[in-house]
Amino acid sequence: MSASGERPDNPSAVELATGKTRNAHALRYQPYWWDALPERASNSGKNVPRNCDVAIIGSGFTGLSAALTLLRNGRQTVVFERDRAGYGASTRNGGQVGSGNQKFRVKKLIALRGRKKAEDMLREGTRMLDHIADLIAEEKIECQFRRSGRFRAAIRPEHYEAMAADMRDLREIAGVNSFMVPRAEQSSEIGSDVFFGGSILPNDASLHPGLYHAGLMERVEGAGGTILDHTPVTAIVATNGGFKIITSAGECFARNVIIATNGYTDGLVPELGRRIVSIGSAIIATGELPESLFNRLLPNNRVYGNTNRVFYYFRGAPDARRILWGGRIGRLASNKSPSAFGHLARDMLAVFPDLKDVPVTHAWDGLIGYTFDEVPHLGCAASGVHYALGYCGTGVSRATYFGNKIALQVLAKPDGRTSFDDMTFPAFPAHPIAKRAVPTVETWYRFRDAINI
Ligand SMILES: Cc1cc2nc3c(=O)[nH]c(=O)nc-3n(C[C@H](O)[C@H](O)[C@H](O)COP(=O)(O)OP(=O)(O)OC[C@H]3O[C@@H](n4cnc5c(N)ncnc54)[C@H](O)[C@@H]3O)c2cc1C
Repeated sequence: MSASGERPDNPSAVELATGKTRNAHALRYQPYWWDALPERASNSGKNVPRNCDVAIIGSGFTGLSAALTLLRNGRQTVVFERDRAGYGASTRNGGQVGSGNQKFRVKKLIALRGRKKAEDMLREGTRMLDHIADLIAEEKIECQFRRSGRFRAAIRPEHYEAMAADMRDLREIAGVNSFMVPRAEQSSEIGSDVFFGGSILPNDASLHPGLYHAGLMERVEGAGGTILDHTPVTAIVATNGGFKIITSAGECFARNVIIATNGYTDGLVPELGRRIVSIGSAIIATGELPESLFNRLLPNNRVYGNTNRVFYYFRGAPDARRILWGGRIGRLASNKSPSAFGHLARDMLAVFPDLKDVPVTHAWDGLIGYTFDEVPHLGCAASGVHYALGYCGTGVSRATYFGNKIALQVLAKPDGRTSFDDMTFPAFPAHPIAKRAVPTVETWYRFRDAINI
């Protein structure tokens, strides 16, 4: 196999789509991004420090961003990670960097939260995009960050009209810059005629999540922080003036704790476990495409998505002419079966039939953390632990930003305040049922997408 995962017997996209994958073993069932990461010596054998100022549970963007802010403010910080560092969504995502402002139509957000709150949230979404851009520049993290812009493709003519109205509202209420591309002109944006035009958000961006994560780790360790991988936290016990962090490898006393486990949240802090539903998302990567084909399909090399409830998302790889195609996955493909990824290939071929014979080299999945009000949350739980989580699938910029803000809140700094602070964080009483119902709800949404209700 080459370093890029390509081998002569990789299944083609059409084989994956039709379930006739002869060479299932030739798929690499791990994130494409991991191929670019240098080998990292595990820290798991290291002693757990007896004390620290702040213990952070979870080594994704939230945890590392929080750690960096705390370290820069002189706090001794230890990040605990259950698996390899960055095991969660932070090294598995699509690397599409957005503001989260498209989660709700502006009018719906106003109806739900009132005009003032909606405006504050939308403006803060824009600041999250700027925050990650500034952080990457200031910390000099080489992660192929680029203001690529986003093309959101309308699946139906009425979606185009609704999106145009929403973009006008977004500009009016929060000054967000965007423009519409009608169907007659969309070939300048995408080499497919299945869509009914779309919107462009020119400030949205793309990056290589593996390199971004590796860069953050380097900065955290460079600032004196400790990241302990393969060290699950099994209990957090409130004690005099702080918390006892009980791990598989020993105990640590911390004055403060930040929970940064997002879609990987379990029962460690029950009051958070009841508030997060983990949903699977998956991506496949094609092999290298001929330059002319790649440029015809993605002429401006942006990040892309559509307007369905159960939407798909795609982009070119930042370092090769490959296409990375993602979407929901009902159950995580823990058995690493190609059939779990067939729907991604089918969606991809419906948009780009010319890709039918291209090899598929990688297939992977991960968990996103959903909340019942579809808004991310941060703050201090009744048990005294701090938390930042629930990005509902848009977490590259938001996890980075919330990590920074929750650290500032631990430090009691006024600039830690956000417009998300005073929101009720809804719990679902029958949470285990909600968890099991995820595939059913998804099927229902797919059905509604199909018949447009
Ligand atoms: C396939 C996929 C595609 C996505 N695409 C995009 C995208 O294109 N754009 C975008 O904005 N967002 C995307 N997302 C979402 C985004 O990746 C996440 O919102 C973000 O990475 C969350 O970061 P985090 O640090 O909060 O959590 P994570 O990165 O998920 O990290 C949580 C960590 O906590 C650890 N953990 C859990 N429990 C314990 C414990 N008891 N002890 C120690 N460690 C523990 C886990 O092992 C895990 O590593 C995608 C997600 C997935 C899965």
